[in-house]
Amino acid sequence: VFVVFEGGEGAGKSTQVIKLAAWLRVHGREAVVTREPGATEVGARIRGLVLDKDALPTGSRVSPRAEALLYAADRAHHVATVVRPALERGAAVVSDRYVDSSLAYQGAGRTLPAEEIGWLSNWATGGLRPDLVVLLDVDPHVGLARVADRGSADRLESESLEFHDRVRHAFLDLAAEDPSRYLVLDASEDPDTIAGKVRERIGRLLPA
Ligand code: C5P
Repeated sequence: VFVVFEGGEGAGKSTQVIKLAAWLRVHGREAVVTREPGATEVGARIRGLVLDKDALPTGSRVSPRAEALLYAADRAHHVATVVRPALERGAAVVSDRYVDSSLAYQGAGRTLPAEEIGWLSNWATGGLRPDLVVLLDVDPHVGLARVADRGSADRLESESLEFHDRVRHAFLDLAAEDPSRYLVLDASEDPDTIAGKVRERIGRLLPA
């Protein structure tokens, strides 16, 4: 089973990924925890290029199309070397971000055409789709404040609140288009309450 957590900044994805994987392991399943961008060595270098503010000279940044290709390259390598091999041996894969992040950030956020991001992602993944996407929905005001508390705000402040609002609504629209594949949860709920709802839904997807 392939489960993806999506959501804006400060939604609590990484906490939920860890909780779900721990629960799967207690129930005797192999669970591979992974993320985009940056889960592989190649991906870590790509992550540095797109997210490390010191990677490029001050004032320069990767152009939107190049950024979309770099995220797609990270994903292609991630799917080929981590996700598919794990699924093929019967493991559960729990990923912090996947294709929807590109549709939301590079598509809605950077205003590249969603259809093009869709093609690119489909090519990069060879069409691999998650069985379930858990969307942790958070108001950007709340999420950004949470991230600021963690001290990693400088990179995020480079994007406007409108950018993060577009991202949020793109995630919600994707979920609304395909409700059978999505679980949308309010990220402001207690983490254990959220984890319980996720387990309840995943339990129904797992083979006995
Ligand atoms: O999930 P994590 O916080 O590690 O993501 C790092 C950042 O990468 C996010 O804040 C988001 O701005 C950016 N990102 C992106 N496009 C993606 C995936 C992540 O812009 N496809």
